[in-house]
Amino acid sequence: MSGVVEHLVPATAVLPSAPSIRTERGQREVFCGLTGIIWLHRKIQDAFFLVVGSRTCAHLIQSAAGVMIFAEPRFATAIIDDRDLSGIADANDELDRVVNQLLARRPDIRLLFLVGSCPSEVIKLDLSRAALRLSRSFEPQVRIRSWSGSGIETTFTQGEDACLASLVPDMPSLPAEAPTSLLIVGSLADVVEDQFRRLFDALGIDNVGFLPPRNSQELPAIGPQTRYLLAQPFLADCARALEQRGAQHLPSAFPLGAEGTMAWFAAAAALFAVPQERFDAVMAAPTARARAALQPLREQLSGVSIFFFPDSQLELPLARFLSRELDMRLLEVGTPYVHRSHMAPELALLPADTVITEGQHVDNQLDRCRASKPGLVVCGLGLANPLEAEGIATKWSIELVFTPIQGFEQAGDLAELFARPLTRRNRLVV
Ligand code: SF4
Repeated sequence: MSGVVEHLVPATAVLPSAPSIRTERGQREVFCGLTGIIWLHRKIQDAFFLVVGSRTCAHLIQSAAGVMIFAEPRFATAIIDDRDLSGIADANDELDRVVNQLLARRPDIRLLFLVGSCPSEVIKLDLSRAALRLSRSFEPQVRIRSWSGSGIETTFTQGEDACLASLVPDMPSLPAEAPTSLLIVGSLADVVEDQFRRLFDALGIDNVGFLPPRNSQELPAIGPQTRYLLAQPFLADCARALEQRGAQHLPSAFPLGAEGTMAWFAAAAALFAVPQERFDAVMAAPTARARAALQPLREQLSGVSIFFFPDSQLELPLARFLSRELDMRLLEVGTPYVHRSHMAPELALLPADTVITEGQHVDNQLDRCRASKPGLVVCGLGLANPLEAEGIATKWSIELVFTPIQGFEQAGDLAELFARPLTRRNRLVV
């Protein structure tokens, strides 16, 4: 083939053959956005996350991050207690005292996030004003920003969205004469980010920044020349903030599985007019490795039916990967929210008869799930145990965010995550 790379997936409007989306409202079963602190604190290595919340919030973070309790922590909870709730103590004074203590003890912190919670929202503690007030005392040594991880009306991945959106105003501006730049948006494990950088280098695309960066002092510059490519599908608020700075979205399928990763790199390669021959040469070996890793798992998972409860917003790209690369049968793909333009390339790749449900009425969905007799269910922790007790194999959706799953080299690991519950169940059956 000759010429330059073109998008592999139609990126604009949803194709006529794309599946329709049914909306459902009712009781939901989700985790809150504080969960994002677990992977964000590993990624931004000089940041500290101070949750302003209750003991429940502290327990959630501590148990989710249990493996970190022996390390120097980079997250903590400032507990809102009865005195704050009843108005006896001034919560702002208490917060200032805690922040002063923390920053005196931890000079390594360069970026401090005040993270809101349900309790801080209920007592209407304005953390954005608190961040502004404290910034006056501590900048430029420490930047203090705020975002909300509250579980009121949010899903657990929206914590990352809010966190990254809070960083966008701090990104430096590109000079007017700067060339086109590419911004990869969404937290990726360092190992994945390094692989992606090597592939961009091999393609000759060197003007690439990553948000979030590993070091908070190295926020990439942004401007109207910036095209942003989402690495995670749950970043609607961050995307809006980037567009307010002039950046434009580069539509693509998400980098899950061999096909999705190839489409994702093709979107970037098309933007920079990479010659097709060079693209094919760079992609050949990692694609072959990914397909080889997937082959045995395809034999195991082919024909197995799968039902998604809405939880992570990763559901549509995962369903596309499982259906197209592993030949799994999609019974229902529930997702908390569908961003129509971010998801257009994914919708175009899903089978036209896929049942997609946006939002949740958990009782109705449980009824449909049981009636469909799924081979595997992807759901949150709250539903997994009861379903397992009924004899239904489950996969916790949160594991899909804690584990490096993006890119060619991780395609086999991603498929393995879906195969493991079935293998375990087969071993348990005597
Ligand atoms: S933020 Fe809300 S949902 Fe999350 S742990 Fe705290 S109280 Fe619970």
